[in-house]
Amino acid sequence: MTITDYSRFPRHKPCRTKIVATLGPASDSEEKMKELIQAGVDLFRLNCAHKSLRENEEIIRRIRKVSQEQGQPIAILADLAGPKMRLGELPNGSYFCQNGATVRFVRGQTSTQPETLTTSYEPLLDDLKIGDRVLLADGTVTFQVVGKKIDASSQNRMLDEVECRVLQAGVVRSRQGINLPGVQLSIPTLQPNDIENATEAVRLGIDFLGLSFVRSPQDILDLRHILIQAAEKNVGSEFWNDLIPEDRSLYYPNIIAKIEKQEALPLLDDIIQTADGIMIARGDLGVEVDIARIAVLQKQMIESCRYWTKPVIVATQMLESMIEETIPTRAEATDVANAILDGADACMLSAETAIGKHPVEAVNMMNRIARETEMILEKRSLIEKDCRIKTMNIMNNLTLPEAVRVSIAVCDAAGQLADTVSASMIFVATQTGRTALNLSKMRNFVMTVGTSSSLTVLRRLCLYWGVIPVGNVQSDPSQMLTTLVERAQERDYLSPNDLVILVSGIGTISNNQNVIYAHKVS
Ligand code: PEP
Repeated sequence: MTITDYSRFPRHKPCRTKIVATLGPASDSEEKMKELIQAGVDLFRLNCAHKSLRENEEIIRRIRKVSQEQGQPIAILADLAGPKMRLGELPNGSYFCQNGATVRFVRGQTSTQPETLTTSYEPLLDDLKIGDRVLLADGTVTFQVVGKKIDASSQNRMLDEVECRVLQAGVVRSRQGINLPGVQLSIPTLQPNDIENATEAVRLGIDFLGLSFVRSPQDILDLRHILIQAAEKNVGSEFWNDLIPEDRSLYYPNIIAKIEKQEALPLLDDIIQTADGIMIARGDLGVEVDIARIAVLQKQMIESCRYWTKPVIVATQMLESMIEETIPTRAEATDVANAILDGADACMLSAETAIGKHPVEAVNMMNRIARETEMILEKRSLIEKDCRIKTMNIMNNLTLPEAVRVSIAVCDAAGQLADTVSASMIFVATQTGRTALNLSKMRNFVMTVGTSSSLTVLRRLCLYWGVIPVGNVQSDPSQMLTTLVERAQERDYLSPNDLVILVSGIGTISNNQNVIYAHKVS
């Protein structure tokens, strides 16, 4: 697999919003992956809550193979399970909890009586307090803690129990997820299996690692520390010591903080600043906080990600009814469009592509909605011209490193120049993906090609809104321009007399892009 395998433009102009598809039994064959890529997938997601990365190794190899055959960089996002709490085994597999009934949590893995529940989260009985709410079955069943019999001095802790009253009736099933809104958990966000998967992710060259149930920026720093240690071991200390920090980051995955806990919300800006991007994980978030707040929280998070120039993925139930049906509901189609109008960089499909009956149709549908919506977004941004004002705000954010601010200013100028001369395309040469991300966040609507000689960087670009990743090995700007223009013309992206802009660097500012070229296609 070399960079020249990825040096051609996509056969069809992609939509600007990136599409993440979760793989599962409905989609993890070579044939289905190929169809999904052709329908518009940019990233495949693996969920480590179901299978470890080691168990996913064959699927990872398959993704890389299909991506190479298609000549299209495809990124892999692997979600670490985090401290997901689950019910243990119920005697009959399920139990109907009646309104006002009493149920008990006890220690152990399996219960013998239907109204007695166990859990995979060992400290649950210790962490719960009287008055706490326990949510099950995706938040449809609610208990309230009304009593606690815990005897820490006892020899037999199996007699401990927490008594709950059913506030909202419904059926609970074995191994179903448990949510405890607002309850302070005593265990760390990174569990032993997450640490194992994170180390595997470095070895397997995973591009993005989703960190579930993030509660504070420290969770992200802890994961990054593990990744850096694993990367150093992987490449060898001698080679590692010669690398500058930006280049080191190419040897371990970017971290995507999954926002799904109430506790994360007051620390959101710090979390976004510390992570490499976020996922608005509306599944668990919609249980952990009042579901009525979800739309507003989504808008606030997307806005913060723009401010910190970080990519944001909107996830869960986007086209949920397509698990069964061939078309989505009106509300789902509107939800995808609204996420894009809010400024989402990527939209994600979960069960729709993992276990659904129509995975390819779901991706096609998302692609079609994105295209329709982006036309409005373009008109709106031209009218409001608010992108420039927002960019200036970011520029004035002195907490961002100087190199980032210089890069943002150069991208801003390139966007303006492209606008003034009606350029058909901007090429951005990018060493780590950062400059392409800056340009992407400006939403300037000139077709943007991110180009790099690193396959790792090309895969990162798969998450950046409006950036088409194209490989090239040239470092001299004029040779780079000639090659890229040729490649673009080959697939009808450019015609003679079109103007193109190249954003590049001449090395006078370390690891930064600082030059803009204007070029006429001959
Ligand atoms: C979510 O909760 O919305 C989510 C994406 O996480 P998971 O699929 O891991 O539950």
